[in-house]
Amino acid sequence: MAELNLNSPLQYVKGVGPRKAEALAKLGMETVEDLLFYFPRRYLDRTNIVPIGEIKVDQPVTIIGRVRAHGILHGKRRRYEVILEDDTGAITLLWFAGVKYWERLFKKNQIFAATGTVTYFMGYQLVHPDLERLEDDSDRMIHAGRIIPVYPQTSELNKAGLNSKGIRQVTSFIFDNLAQKIADPLPPAERNSVGLITLHEAVHKIHYPDNRDQIETCRRRLAFDELLQFQTLVFRNKMKKDTVVRSHRYHPPGEKLKQLKQLLPFKLTSGQKKVLSEIFADLQSQHPMTRLLQGDVGCGKTVVAIIAALYVAENGMQVAFMAPTEILAEQHFRNWESILGEIGIKVGLLTASLTPAQKKKIAHQCAEGNIHVLFGTHALIYDYVKFANLGLVVIDEQHRFGVQQRDKLHAKGDNPDLLVMTATPIPRTLALTLYGDLDISTVDTLPPGRKVTRTVWRTHDARDKVHQFITDEINKGGQAYIIYPLIEKSDEGDIENVEDAYETLTRGPFADLRVGMVHGRIKSKERDELLARFRDGDLDVILATTVIEVGIDNPNVTLMVIEHAERFGLAQLHQLRGRIGRGERQATLVALAHPPISDIARRRLQFLVSTNDGFEIAEADLELRGPGEIFGVRQSGLPELKAARLSVDKDLLEASRRLLERLFGADADLDTNYRNLYNYLIETVDSRYADFHGG
Ligand code: ADP
Ligand code: MG
Repeated sequence: MAELNLNSPLQYVKGVGPRKAEALAKLGMETVEDLLFYFPRRYLDRTNIVPIGEIKVDQPVTIIGRVRAHGILHGKRRRYEVILEDDTGAITLLWFAGVKYWERLFKKNQIFAATGTVTYFMGYQLVHPDLERLEDDSDRMIHAGRIIPVYPQTSELNKAGLNSKGIRQVTSFIFDNLAQKIADPLPPAERNSVGLITLHEAVHKIHYPDNRDQIETCRRRLAFDELLQFQTLVFRNKMKKDTVVRSHRYHPPGEKLKQLKQLLPFKLTSGQKKVLSEIFADLQSQHPMTRLLQGDVGCGKTVVAIIAALYVAENGMQVAFMAPTEILAEQHFRNWESILGEIGIKVGLLTASLTPAQKKKIAHQCAEGNIHVLFGTHALIYDYVKFANLGLVVIDEQHRFGVQQRDKLHAKGDNPDLLVMTATPIPRTLALTLYGDLDISTVDTLPPGRKVTRTVWRTHDARDKVHQFITDEINKGGQAYIIYPLIEKSDEGDIENVEDAYETLTRGPFADLRVGMVHGRIKSKERDELLARFRDGDLDVILATTVIEVGIDNPNVTLMVIEHAERFGLAQLHQLRGRIGRGERQATLVALAHPPISDIARRRLQFLVSTNDGFEIAEADLELRGPGEIFGVRQSGLPELKAARLSVDKDLLEASRRLLERLFGADADLDTNYRNLYNYLIETVDSRYADFHGG
């Protein structure tokens, strides 16, 4: 057999064959290179394995054992139990959900590694542990002191015989038969200055580490390359944008702006004034604006966008203002319709729930230029919506949209200005990476007179007291939200849902209160009527799902209870909290957690209680969850990061950014090594991220 190189098809590697090749191809792996860049998810070795006989309560452990028995237990809560034993003892693994899956997975005498935190209830147990099926030989390897890579698994891979052991066999053959070392695009001088190993060593040892420290050394090298590629995309987008020259020039601000400022019921905060001057400078410059406006929940971003919109309208251009939910789009429309109307600006609203005739009418008016500011949901991006003269696109809560949606709206004009807003603040290093092609403005003040919302977290045993507290609060003239994770019963297990809760509460503890229910499956007309009645004080309590998470504004609500707070992310909890504390009175958030509560969930809740600062929350969320989920990296269309960990790799982020600034610098006089790196990066991002749409 011929020697292998990185481009060799996997199918011809010894031991792979058509069946395995097919399973790998399903995961996008066709060549030797693809498989070598399929990194272990984690590692098992003796240093992190604890004999069952030695475990203690609250200790985070990995244990390895044989299945002695397994099955469903019916009791107060239906659960799946597995007894795992090693030479020193036995422990129970426990799941409250997914019973069918576990039933199929376990067989007597199989060996598993289970990772989790030890709890005690009539014996030691691990609730919802992280699980890895092991082969006999990995068990032996571990006892021989080796480090075992564990790969991400899919059922297809498993069926084709490509469990972790199978993958190890293939990669081991590849490294033995590779004709050449993997070429390193990074010049040696660069490697040395950042303190990185060669690419070949990193790829090899990430699969076969000699010790724990080496894994981290490899990961850092691979992370650096990933960050370089990732930011190459961003740099290129920025370069492209900087070449666009706007076709329309704005006049200096005129009468209408003055009128609006007089009509506002409040004075702008210093933070609002600062970002407005940044936005106005953009609008008056020769390149179109691409700006991210960030600021904590409730800091008053909307009025900033409205003032920008008015300026654009005053110059005879149209504005598209897109919000992620109907409730929010309608709220913006209703709040601004009359004020803008008074100064002669025509506004419109377009959402999915209008009748076809209404949609047609709005679209027609917009195409004729008779609507100046069009508010709406993603209904705005449909093809039938056309603008006569789109000058500004505003995207509210932009992390709720994909980049494609944003692009599509943007394409309805001739390079219109773009203002995207988010209440999920982004730490600076990360912002430069993810949004390096956007300019960033931050509103760093809150309107005067806001009281900091008091936050407590409790386990759900406290529920009766909480219900009493709600009743008292309402008797004092307040209003309350109770938030649930689900609309209705699910087979996930015993998770509170808003429909059942509505039944129980209105019959029991809240029989004398006026209660309403809001969730995504209630018709928008009904939902709006309900929220309007709530706002008018005709309802006391709203039971809701997270549909009320973004933007909803009712200053009289002083209390929020979140059921199953352990299931929500930190940023989301903070967003929900932003719905209260908008008025004069002291507001309270009660986060109710239902056991089992994982360590991470506990830390999230403690953190939520400890601060109201959105930036601190964002940093902590990043550490606790990783960036993908918080900032919507995945849905934003940015490539997923496999090796980089944005919360810890700040130095790599900065180093990779400095390198790119040199490579992309206008007057760069690059020597061959660096010229090659530049070409390599451009080629790689072109082929690897062909379907990436720039911000
Ligand atoms: P967010 O930044 O979360 O989108 P909003 O724009 O919804 O915040 O503003 C929150 C509330 O603060 C609204 O009721 C708004 O009218 C009010 N508000 C905004 N700016 C000011 C200000 N300068 N002074 C007082 N209240 C303000
Ligand atoms: Mg908002």
